[in-house]
Amino acid sequence: MRTDFLPFSKPSISEAEIAAVAEVLRSGWITTGPNCSAFEEDFQNYCRAAGAVALSSATAGMHLALKAYGIGPGDEVITPSLTWVSTVNLITLAGATPVFADIDKDTLMVSADTVSPLLSARTKLIIPVHFAGAALELDPLRELASENGIPLLEDAAHAAGTEYRGKKIGASGSAIFSFHPIKNMTCGEGGMFLADDAGLLEQIRRLKFHGLGVDAFDRNVQGRAPQAEVLEPGYKYNLTDIAAVLGRGQLARLDSFIERRTLLAEHYLELLAEIDEIAPLRPPAYPQRHAWHLFIVRLKNAKNAAERQDFMEALKKRNIGTGLHFKAVHEQKFYRETLKLKPGFLPATEWNSARICSLPLFPDMELGDVDDVINAIKEVLV
Ligand SMILES: *Cc1c(COP(=O)(O)O)cnc(C)c1O
Repeated sequence: MRTDFLPFSKPSISEAEIAAVAEVLRSGWITTGPNCSAFEEDFQNYCRAAGAVALSSATAGMHLALKAYGIGPGDEVITPSLTWVSTVNLITLAGATPVFADIDKDTLMVSADTVSPLLSARTKLIIPVHFAGAALELDPLRELASENGIPLLEDAAHAAGTEYRGKKIGASGSAIFSFHPIKNMTCGEGGMFLADDAGLLEQIRRLKFHGLGVDAFDRNVQGRAPQAEVLEPGYKYNLTDIAAVLGRGQLARLDSFIERRTLLAEHYLELLAEIDEIAPLRPPAYPQRHAWHLFIVRLKNAKNAAERQDFMEALKKRNIGTGLHFKAVHEQKFYRETLKLKPGFLPATEWNSARICSLPLFPDMELGDVDDVINAIKEVLV
C-alpha cells in the first residue's frame, strides 16, 4: 500500500511562475492591468478566438453571459443536470427555469438529439458542457441552435486546450473557461470568456467592471477619462494581475500538461481494460484532441450511490484520493425540493450520478502512481 496520500488533483506551479507573481506584487500594480491584457491576448491567440475577456471565475462569466443574453423570469435555459452547480444556480437566481437535457451514458455529454425535444417558445439559451476534457459534438448542436435562433454558450471549464475537428474550443461561438485550481491550468481563481461576437464581448467587458465600459487600468494607463460613466449597472468580476501573470505561465505550459495527462490516461485505460467492474468514459469518435481534465470511471455493478461512497472511502484508506464530478444538480436538496423531477426522468444522468468517480490525474503524477491506483482498486473490488 502507498505510504503517502495521492490526491485526485494537484496544480503544477513552477518556480518561474512563483517569481513572476512576486514581481507583480513588487511592481506597484496588482489589480487588473498589463498582465490581464497580455493574458487575454495570449489565450485568445492560443485558441485563435476573435476576442477574450479575463474574469474572476467561470461562474462570474456565466452570470455576465446570462445578463448579456437578457435571461430572466419566464425564460428557459437548456443545460445538463450532470454539471457543476454554478450554471443552474445562476439560471435560477436570474428567475429563469433550468431545463435539463439528458446525456450520452458513456461520454456524459448532451447532444442535438437530447436537446432538440426540449426546445420551446420560452427557450432563450442552450448551455452544453464539454465534459472531462473531451469535446462535445458541436456541429449538430450549433445547427439546431441557429435553426431555432437560440444562442449557444459552451461551458468550457474542462476544455482549455481541447480541440473539436481541428479547432480549439473557443475558436468560434461563445465559450467560458475556468482556471480554478483543479482545472487543466489555474491562476488560483479565474475565468476567460471567448466569443466571436464583438457586441457581446463589449457587453461582457463592460458588465465585468461596474458597467463602466473601461476598467481602472484603461482609465489610468490608457489615458481615458477617469470620469467614465456607468453605461448600465454592472458587477465586479475583473481578474487581478497577480492571478493573470500565473495564468500566462500556466498557458505557456498547457500543451505539456495535456501531453502528460494523455500519457497517464492511456496508462489507466490499458490497465483498466482488465477490470470488468470499472467502466471508463468512452472518448468521442469524431476528430478531437482530448485535454484529459478528469479521468472518470463508473462502478458498473454498483446498485446505488452508497456503494460508490464505500468504494471511494476504501480507496482513501489506501491513500488514494478520488473526486466526484458530479452529483446531478436535480438530485441536490434545493432542486429536489423545488423542481420535484421524478426519479427516472433523466436515466443516463441518474445512472452516472450514482456511479461516477474521478481517479487521480494531474501533470506531476508518475506512471507508478497510476499503478498504485489500479492496485488499490483491485484490492478494494475483491
Ligand atoms: C469548475 C466548473 C465551473 C465553474 O468554474 P469556476 O471558475 O470555479 O467558477 C463551471 N462549470 C463546470 C462544468 C465546472 O467544472
